[in-house]
Amino acid sequence: MDIKQIYLVSPRGFCAGVKRAVGIVEAVLKKYGAPIYIRHHIVHNVHVVKGFESQGVIFIEELEKVPDKSVVVFSSHGSPPSLYTMAKKKNLILYDATCPLVIKVHLEAKRYAMMGYFIIYIGQKNHPEAIGVLGEVSKESIVLIERIEDLDKARIPKNKKKIILTQTTLSFDDTKILVEQIQKKYPLVILPPVFDICFSTQNRQNAVKALARKTKTIIVIGSKASSNSNKLRYVAEKEGAKAYLIDDETDINIKWFKNIESVGITAGASAPEQLVKRVTAFFSGDQTIIKDIETIRETVAFPFPKSI
Ligand code: SF4
Repeated sequence: MDIKQIYLVSPRGFCAGVKRAVGIVEAVLKKYGAPIYIRHHIVHNVHVVKGFESQGVIFIEELEKVPDKSVVVFSSHGSPPSLYTMAKKKNLILYDATCPLVIKVHLEAKRYAMMGYFIIYIGQKNHPEAIGVLGEVSKESIVLIERIEDLDKARIPKNKKKIILTQTTLSFDDTKILVEQIQKKYPLVILPPVFDICFSTQNRQNAVKALARKTKTIIVIGSKASSNSNKLRYVAEKEGAKAYLIDDETDINIKWFKNIESVGITAGASAPEQLVKRVTAFFSGDQTIIKDIETIRETVAFPFPKSI
């Protein structure tokens, strides 16, 4: 392997919602000590999850299994209302790490359903964010669409007003195409005032496009379960690059880099910067030039809940 040039693109790595979620867990651990429970992986990154497990955090999927009166954090992806009801019943001390931009979509779903709209929700089946939003309204008021073929099969009432909402971490370009196809079929369908794919997702996808203009070999640091990391790999490949999604440098196969002289590195919104350093060090030799590419500077930070 003879990598002469490494391009490090930004924005990359932790977004404002992930920084807040990780910060909430750190603060709750400090306040109460272990064990604390987290419903679902706080963010979809194996290193973050293992790091918290080593400090006594217990990750669970079923809230029923948590002992009454325990300290619980809900993950950044959002949770359906039924879980908040259960938390109350079990007298749990609850901290909610749901990203404010996911909460925005929950509120839109509730508001538009109350106004009599039918919601066409573009998202990934079984993703916790989609499950959370679908749980906000009656089954008769919403349908989940992953691809255009789902639209033909979906039972969408003809005589109801319609709105499109989306998961926050989808491919911006693909979602735009899907929205246009839905608009062709339902010309009166509306979109919320601010598109639901979040700014961090859009910024990272724009950054990886810029990276693909510099090099055709791209490493995306992120876990397989991370929707936005998968989309970064996908966007890079759509831009003509060969892209690899890895958790860390131990996933790298040096055969991928035969006759390759430059590599671009980015990281999904849930991947810690420490991993970028490790992967960069893996590729660096005495002669390697490391170049930063910044496409936009992110300055948004979300406040913590007042109780911590
Ligand atoms: S990717 Fe976007 S919606 Fe998801 S946690 Fe980050 S800022 Fe929030």
